[in-house]
Amino acid sequence: MSIAENVGKVLAEIAESARAAGRDPGEITLCAATKMNDAQAVREAIRAGVRVCGENRVQELTAKLAENAYEGAEIHFIGHLQTNKVKQVVGKVNLIQSVDSEHLLTAISGEARRQGIIQDILLEINIGQEAAKSGFGAEEILPLVDKIDSFPNIRLRGLMAIPPIARNPGDNLKFFLKMRQIYVDIRAKKKDNVSVDCLSMGMSGDFADAIAAGSTMVRIGTAVFGARDYTTAHQKM
Ligand SMILES: *Cc1c(COP(=O)(O)O)cnc(C)c1O
Repeated sequence: MSIAENVGKVLAEIAESARAAGRDPGEITLCAATKMNDAQAVREAIRAGVRVCGENRVQELTAKLAENAYEGAEIHFIGHLQTNKVKQVVGKVNLIQSVDSEHLLTAISGEARRQGIIQDILLEINIGQEAAKSGFGAEEILPLVDKIDSFPNIRLRGLMAIPPIARNPGDNLKFFLKMRQIYVDIRAKKKDNVSVDCLSMGMSGDFADAIAAGSTMVRIGTAVFGARDYTTAHQKM
């Protein structure tokens, strides 16, 4: 199947999952995870209806921005971001979804202040408490949001999570429901730089459960672009 056919199929499946959960399909946005796919593939996805692209690596982001690959879509950063690379991301993307430490939050707000902008961000939660994954502990979020006005050049738009790989349908539902609860809790906070409307969770293997639990954005790579070929990655870039 072509990328365009894949996009159509994924959008239809998202809509079907929404209806099955009694939700309006318009509440859920597809973020196409573009890692290891070149500018031409990204353009094809956008032509087929993708409105948000998610990039993982700073190097790929910079290369594809230079090629105007994301024209017609929003670009979000969704990978682990090192503080020494914030300059290459702040002000260049609509949303940084993967803010996984207070140290990084400080660096992003500082860089945004230097640029004279407000950078939209999500806080990433390590919801499965996996040692190999970065992200805040669930219990750290509310205390952090209570002092979020000490980071004046960011706007908090919501939460993101990458739960463990789901082997069976239903495996990650408990994690998604916990995310939803924290999302509802931070939405209730009244702060100048908090404007919460994005709960980013659900990937190719588990997005139906994420949507049932209240996800507003699913990040999907494989089902849009096909399996990633790690052996030729350096050639494709
Ligand atoms: C690659 C990636 C995805 C999409 O994963 P697939 O399993 O290919 O759908 C989603 N989120 C993040 C952060 C990713 O890096």
